[in-house]
Amino acid sequence: MFSLVLLILMVFMESTSAGWLHEDADIMGTRISVELFHADSDTARQGVETVLQEMRRIDAGMSPYIETSELARLNVSAQRRPFKTSKELFSLVQRSLDFSELTGGAFDITFASVGFLYDYRNKIRPGETQRERAADLINYRKLALDRHSGTIAFSGHGVRIDLGGIAKGYAVDRCISLLQKLGISQALVTAGGDSRMIGDRWGRPWSIGVRNPRDEDKLAAVIPLRDVAVSTSGDYQRFFEENGIRYHHIINPGSGDSARELQSVTIIGPDATTTDALSTSVFVMGRESGLALINGMPDIDAILVDQKGHLHYSDDLQPARKTGHGVKPSAAALTN
Ligand code: ADP
Ligand code: MG
Repeated sequence: MFSLVLLILMVFMESTSAGWLHEDADIMGTRISVELFHADSDTARQGVETVLQEMRRIDAGMSPYIETSELARLNVSAQRRPFKTSKELFSLVQRSLDFSELTGGAFDITFASVGFLYDYRNKIRPGETQRERAADLINYRKLALDRHSGTIAFSGHGVRIDLGGIAKGYAVDRCISLLQKLGISQALVTAGGDSRMIGDRWGRPWSIGVRNPRDEDKLAAVIPLRDVAVSTSGDYQRFFEENGIRYHHIINPGSGDSARELQSVTIIGPDATTTDALSTSVFVMGRESGLALINGMPDIDAILVDQKGHLHYSDDLQPARKTGHGVKPSAAALTN
């Protein structure tokens, strides 16, 4: 599904100029975009192809919608017996559990035990009783990871997992490291709401826009960034409304219902796996505990949009120190 969270502003030059390449594709149920520079045009082309191929590889392994994906097979088998996974899937599930611990359970890939009952496109949701019953199955502690045998097992019938809150960020990180191996030192890779950049864009920072959650043509903030990752989670990407209530794809693990305190959360940090997981987490946690978490993490910043459309910043991005560009970059945002 096409869901562009961040508007990437190409301000300083045409992307078709010599050495710079820009390509978009629909993969992982979202819009993938890669923009990069290499003086050798064959290497630049190879960089673009590498990114698209890597995105397709990760989608084929981790999509819950592809029956043959490793994730789908894990969901079927791990309810009955330990399932031997690839090292890659094992370690992404392990990282997901680390984020569950860090966020007091706000990030929980077993949300899918209820999540699968929603179909946002067709406006389908579970009834209250069904939701409450299934919500008992949401608990990351129901996953048993055995590092020695490389297996994952679920305790409890009906438990399932979905990596939708972290896999796109992980895919972006993988692509960035493949580009670095090719010797590319200026690039921006985006998968839906998750982006990471190497270097800058023609000597100037990349301009990343945070859209207004209630008007896709307007920006809530523009941030100049280089060499960081940025992720946005919002309630406007997959949703429907019923009797004035918005049902969307970010689920509060406690209730199995959509989290409704905020409209969007943008996280800036060193890698996209972290920013992706934290944007989903802080969306669930809400303003107070979400900002407390981020303010306790030295290299992470956050911009929140609440239900009134008001912006809230983590300490290092306080608007008192605003620049003409938007928000003042923090220690993490690394630019000027
Ligand atoms: P997207 O870029 O797909 O909008 P987000 O980073 O905003 O992704 O996260 C939303 C996705 O995360 C949902 O589509 C779902 O797959 C997954 N998700 C929803 N609630 C949770 C949760 N509480 N913990 C972990 N993952 C979640
Ligand atoms: Mg996320």
